[in-house]
Parts: sequence; C-alpha cells; structure tokens
Amino acid sequence: MAARGASLTIAAMNTSTSSSAIPSNEGTTPLLPRIVVLATGGTIAGAAASATNTSGYQAGVIGVEQLLAVVPALSTVARMESEQIASVDSKDMAMPLWTTLAQRINTLLADDEIDGVVVTHGTDTLEETAYLLHLTVKSDKPVVLTAAMRPASALSADGPLNLLNAVTVAAQASSRGQGVLVAFNNKIHSARDVVKTSTYAVDAFHSPEIGALGWVQDGRVEFQRGVVRPHTLATEFVIGATWPHVEIVVSYAGVSRIAVDALVAAGVRGIVVAGTGNGSIHASVQQALADAASQGVAVVRASRVGSGHVMRNGAAADDALGFVSAGSLNPYKARVLLMLALAAGATGPVALQKIFDTY
Ligand code: ASP
Repeated sequence: MAARGASLTIAAMNTSTSSSAIPSNEGTTPLLPRIVVLATGGTIAGAAASATNTSGYQAGVIGVEQLLAVVPALSTVARMESEQIASVDSKDMAMPLWTTLAQRINTLLADDEIDGVVVTHGTDTLEETAYLLHLTVKSDKPVVLTAAMRPASALSADGPLNLLNAVTVAAQASSRGQGVLVAFNNKIHSARDVVKTSTYAVDAFHSPEIGALGWVQDGRVEFQRGVVRPHTLATEFVIGATWPHVEIVVSYAGVSRIAVDALVAAGVRGIVVAGTGNGSIHASVQQALADAASQGVAVVRASRVGSGHVMRNGAAADDALGFVSAGSLNPYKARVLLMLALAAGATGPVALQKIFDTY
C-alpha cells in the first residue's frame, strides 16, 4: 500500500503522487481499481486504554497506514493508496478543513489513474461533510465516506469491516454517478439522505423515510434505488475558501428571541431554524426571524423532528415572512446548502427556495 505523503497535520500534508509501491497484477488479470483513502480522524482512528472501553477514548490518534494495515483483504479489492488529511474528532470539523478535503478529492479524481476515493471520518458530523462533498465534488467517480462507532482498540471494533466495505463500494463501477456515498454497517446511503441516529449502536446511520440506496457484504455491492436530485458534476457549487456566516437556532417551549437578535447583531448572512413539527416556530422567534429577513438575512425553516419534510407556507407564511423551506433537509444539511448557495451569489427567498427545491 502506498502512502501519499502521510502526515498528522494538514499543514504538513504532502501530496506526492508517486505510486511505485502499489502492488500490481499487470500481465495476469486486469488491474484492480486504484483507490485513495483520505483519513481525517474520528473514532475509526480512536484508541482507548482498554479493549472494553468504547466511550472514553481519544478520537483520531491512529494513522491511516495503521488503519489499512489491519485489513489485509483491502489489497484483494483495490490498489490502495492513502493520505492523512487531518486527525480530528469530527465534533471539531471546521470549514477550512472542508475546503482542503474537497479540493484534494477534486485534484485526485481529475487524475485518470485514480478510480475512487474513500474518506475516513468521525461519525458526529459525517452527514454534514458527506453532503458538502456531494454538492462540490466535480467528478462522477465514487467518493465513499465511512467511520466507526467503536474505537480501533475496542473488542469487536467496527472500523475495519466498514473500511473494507467502503473500499469495495468505491471500487465498483456501479457506484459511479451516484454522488457521494456513505458505507456503514453493510448499508450504502446517499450523502443527501443519511443521518446519524444513535449515540452508541454500530447501526448508527439511517436514511429516514427514504431508506438506504443499497448494501455491501462479502465483496458484493447491490444498489436498490438511484439518486434523483442533482449532485457533483450537475451542481452550480464550487468549493472555495470563503464561507458565508450561517448559524442554526432551535425553536422549543419558552424560547426567547435573544439568540436570533444576537446573531443578527453579529452580522450573520443566514439563519437556519430547527423548528418544531412541520418547521413551526415559536411566535417570539418567528417575529425575530421575520425582522432578520427584512434586513436581508436569509432565513431557512427546517425541522428538529428527524424525518419528514417542511411544507412551504405550511406551518408559517413563508411568502409573507420572506422565509425559505428546507424541504426534507435536516437543519445541519440545510446550513451546508445555504452556505454554498450564498457563496454562489444567490440572494433573496425566491432564488434560495429554488435552490432548496433543486438539491
Ligand atoms: N466524536 C467522534 C467523531 O465524530 C465520534 C465518532 O467518530 O464516532 O470524531
């Protein structure tokens, strides 16, 4: 397995493209697909003091070469390369790292010699990174994220099999053109739909309402449905270094307008509200958001419920208030889309609603 400039920090990242150490089966059977694993940290690279400790551990301390070394079967699936992009607990994921990651993926996939990319990530914000990449990767080659709920040091660690399955999915021709995928616990999910649904179970990712795209097991990959909304090559979004300031507020019993007013005073460009039910909003917060919208702040109504969708002009009069409905995107993914839309120059509720209805 060839390491592409493995290092523990982003700053020291070496993006050498040497592939001399790649095992080759040239001359005998067709070459296996060439897959690059980009490691960012997370529990999949986590270690605890004992094998029975699955909650008190440090995320992102094991290097990518070690992650690959414990799964010898990888070399039967693909010609492997790896790079350490970062070593973070994904609770600390930040936009500059998203820029670095997306740009690196785009550079790698522009290389004719590379067939796909796997990203190892923490589970906490995986759904946000996956959706960001789904909208900004400019290639139809497979990009597959995976992670683990148990640290690498744990009894029955789930990372090694998740990694093997992710590489198996990335190496499949049928994974091309499906947008960014998440392979986790034998299921394959679309980046748009997938969410983390458990704080501890190894079956921690689901696509509420719509279900997984397919499954992977013992080297077999099967897709059972396709991805309908545009992604990757078909979007208007490009990854850049500038991220419009967008925050999320929550509506709940007794909530005040203090948080919204403070965000507006801080100069935010957009606010996503995690509303109750069908994106309904407590009267005090709704008034604060209407005031914000009248000052040019983009306001998007999502729901804190976890499944379903928010109907435009359903629980709130979006047309009159100047709000946008997030549809079936949860608040965290709605924030990703709003940042990209604002960065692309979209302004006003009509243009923004069109973007939310499209992606
Ligand atoms: N806090 C960890 C992370 O997101 C959790 C995990 O990976 O499961 O990096």
